[in-house]
Amino acid sequence: MSTSQNGYPALDGRVTGPLPRLRVWRIPGTGRHLALRDGSTGFLLVHLAMWFDRKVEDIDAGVWDEWGYAFRPVRGYVALSNHASGTAMDLNATQHPLGRADTFSPAEEKLILSRVNGFYAGCIRWGGEYRGRPDEMHFEIDRGIGACERKARALLDSPRGRKILAANPGARKVIES
Ligand SMILES: [Zn+2]
Repeated sequence: MSTSQNGYPALDGRVTGPLPRLRVWRIPGTGRHLALRDGSTGFLLVHLAMWFDRKVEDIDAGVWDEWGYAFRPVRGYVALSNHASGTAMDLNATQHPLGRADTFSPAEEKLILSRVNGFYAGCIRWGGEYRGRPDEMHFEIDRGIGACERKARALLDSPRGRKILAANPGARKVIES
């Protein structure tokens, strides 16, 4: 089985059948949905997307430029992108194009960094932190399943967590399985 850069198995696009698989996650408070890995990792990314929509930028204004699962190599490289395992998402891609730095204000950047590295305990990494080629639209899972399950379970009954579970029937069962 091939894995993406962060060690999660690449998925074939299925949203039914045995785990691991994808889920089409609705993002509460927005008209958007994203195909991401079912269970804790997808839940954490959706939790971040909700926060981002409220605190940083509207994600559902303008064209649909939010992306989750895609089976593809990292652009310009051979390794499989974390999008191939459904553990990465792009938000407001048209405003934050690949390779461009400082597409967020310094205040927004500080907010994003403290959120991913502090609140999510490093379970999520921001592409704006890549050395070399920044990817500021991009957020990805950066820790193993054990750490992500602990963090996701701790957030299940948070206000955002409850909204995510209400909008995505069956998700709680996968996270708790
Ligand atoms: Zn991406």
